[in-house]
Amino acid sequence: MLKRLHGARTRRTESFKGTVARATAGVACLCVVSAAAALGALPSSGAVASEAGASPSPGTVRVFPSVPVQGDTLIVLVSVPTGTAVVVITFDGGAVAAYPIPGGEFRALIGTDPEVPAGPHAIDAVVREAGGAVRRLTQTVRLAPGRFRVLQLTLPPTTSGLVTPQNLAIESRVLVPVLNRHTPTALWEGTFAVPSGGRINSPYAYGEQGVYNGLREWWHGGVDFAAPEGAPVSAANAGVVVLARSLPLGGNTIVIDHGQGVLSEYLHLSAFAVGEGARVQRGVLIGRVGATGFAPGLGLHWGLYVNGVPVNPLFWTVSRPELTAP
Ligand SMILES: [Zn+2]
Repeated sequence: MLKRLHGARTRRTESFKGTVARATAGVACLCVVSAAAALGALPSSGAVASEAGASPSPGTVRVFPSVPVQGDTLIVLVSVPTGTAVVVITFDGGAVAAYPIPGGEFRALIGTDPEVPAGPHAIDAVVREAGGAVRRLTQTVRLAPGRFRVLQLTLPPTTSGLVTPQNLAIESRVLVPVLNRHTPTALWEGTFAVPSGGRINSPYAYGEQGVYNGLREWWHGGVDFAAPEGAPVSAANAGVVVLARSLPLGGNTIVIDHGQGVLSEYLHLSAFAVGEGARVQRGVLIGRVGATGFAPGLGLHWGLYVNGVPVNPLFWTVSRPELTAP
């Protein structure tokens, strides 16, 4: 579905100010400098780099995946000395929540989508140690462009007519605060599971742009699965149901908070199997497939938000040790 219409866009735009669009993938320019050096008073103290799989030493920033693509979630691990009190991580100057994880590291999750420009982006970590010393670690990450198709699509008037300023306002008023939740505790466990047994329904794959009834609109902020009416929809991972209600465009909508800024949404359901406040585990039944709201047909729309950014959910269905919740 259209991104503007199919799940609210919620991230703070000031967090993403990258404007350079170089299409080269990879990670470059890793350096560690003192806070004074960052202000220009001292030279850099030299490079400290750690590749995936290497054991980190204090003062190391690791970013996964090594070759990120638009739609991926950047996983930033900052190893810190024992007793470190504060770690502040920024992405292109915008603060990103960071949480301590076992092993003497802090972790921040940075969502990217087709609107985060391909090319270099700056990740900074300011580490304030127990003794008061402050270190600033800087890394540049190159985001590779996603290959998102542009497709001609036709919707019946009864569906396209749902897109009104009033409906958009209702949708936004309900979803924006929910999708921007930051529950400090990580509730998910292991790899995310796809929530439907249906096949992924191109042209509604992640990031694809639709020209609807001749009008070029936005892009698809999730993954659609083709499935019959009433087919089961299951929780992608453990969490708390923070929204289960009918919305003008999402139709019958469920949002699960997995903690630490990670939330999943399930749209166009025909029925709910859980209510708001329910604690769910991965794979449990939460609803039934339908075609309610702004739906292209029968099926499930599955979205995943990281700090308010609609990322590619399938990224989270691949085993990634650095994403394993503490
Ligand atoms: Zn969709």
